[in-house]
Amino acid sequence: MLFTEDFLHYVWKFRLFDHNALQTTDNETLHITSPGLHNTHSGPDFQNARLSIGDTIWAGNVEIHLASSDWHKHHHTNDGAYHNVVLHVVYENDEQITLPDGRRLPTLILKGRIAADLYSRYHQLAYGNQRIIPCEGTIKTVSSLSLHNWLTRVLVERLEKKSDSVIATLQNNRGDWEETFYQHLAANFGFKVNALPFELMAKSLPQNLLAKNKNNPMQIEALIFGQAGFLEEDFKDDYPNKLRSEYQYLRKKYGLSPIEKHLWKFMRLRPQNFPTIRLAQFAALIVQSNHLFSKILEIKEIEQLRELFTSISVNVYWESHYRFDAESKPATKNLGQGSIDLLLMNTVAVFLFSYGNHHQLQRYIDRGMQLLEDLPVESNHVVTDFEALGIKVKTAFESQALLELKNSYCNHKKCLTCGVGNQILNIT
Ligand code: SF4
Repeated sequence: MLFTEDFLHYVWKFRLFDHNALQTTDNETLHITSPGLHNTHSGPDFQNARLSIGDTIWAGNVEIHLASSDWHKHHHTNDGAYHNVVLHVVYENDEQITLPDGRRLPTLILKGRIAADLYSRYHQLAYGNQRIIPCEGTIKTVSSLSLHNWLTRVLVERLEKKSDSVIATLQNNRGDWEETFYQHLAANFGFKVNALPFELMAKSLPQNLLAKNKNNPMQIEALIFGQAGFLEEDFKDDYPNKLRSEYQYLRKKYGLSPIEKHLWKFMRLRPQNFPTIRLAQFAALIVQSNHLFSKILEIKEIEQLRELFTSISVNVYWESHYRFDAESKPATKNLGQGSIDLLLMNTVAVFLFSYGNHHQLQRYIDRGMQLLEDLPVESNHVVTDFEALGIKVKTAFESQALLELKNSYCNHKKCLTCGVGNQILNIT
């Protein structure tokens, strides 16, 4: 049977072995009060374990190996960090270990004490053939309450990671939440493909500079398209030529430098998602909304949040264009419902959570989570995969949690630290 040390760590941590008449290899009675804290850094595997051997009570470290001879193979003999190990836990005892002070290292053998089906279930998770995820054959046996509880925890982990990135930007912006929100919102207007140039454009164009020109939509559009690098050439149409001359004046006035136009991608995008259209929508949002983040903190209903984005109108030029100087069939270019919900999910919910987390205001954390519960599930292959395994996914709360579960746990086979894996192995 192919055991790994990880499996033995798991067995020790959750006491998944037969505790009946435990003895060390020196035939002394062993009683375990606490297995200790799992140490994933250098040094013994478990720290501060509490146990008694014979009449002596010990508090100290536990080292775990597949075979006792691994003690030497892992060079613990002369490593001072291992001299206070109080118990050596092994699957097989192929050598008695003696410490430098001449003491025989107390050893517990686990062979014969671990249920065979525990290992086969573990083995299936860790090494079984899989099409989608390691537990694909058993995930349906996990109760919906346990799954929901675990997904909630995983979602919080995801939001905390995103929050770290928000707080890093906040620090760069000297604590300015509005500027930080504006930069992250811009990046999310790029919808992955153009996230980087959108973010660079926003960072090159501080929001307070836009605010100075807020009463002049043409100037806002000129600043945004100009800093995006789209106004560096002559045009046939009047509208872009006007933007260009506005931008040339504003660029000199504020000492601006545009980003490189070639950073923007049009390939394989539907015209509705061209960066020119997204920039026009972003400009329209800036024209319409001052202090957007402050407004969002006050709004409690999802429909009012959606309204902030549905009520914007791009410049009439874009109704018959997807790019400058290229006329097309008239079509509305305002943000669609799907795009708005993605912005609410990736920006608004994340900022509500981050703001609440940073200021320790639970009501904003709750509102960020509630917003995800209220938003519909987004479509992606992870959701499709879990649905194929019989998991019903109804909200963005669940789909975001499943994304995190797949990327941070399943893909790395972290089944032993996963709530689903623990349920499958009958650990509660
Ligand atoms: S990490 Fe959890 S959900 Fe993913 S395969 Fe393992 S047990 Fe299943």
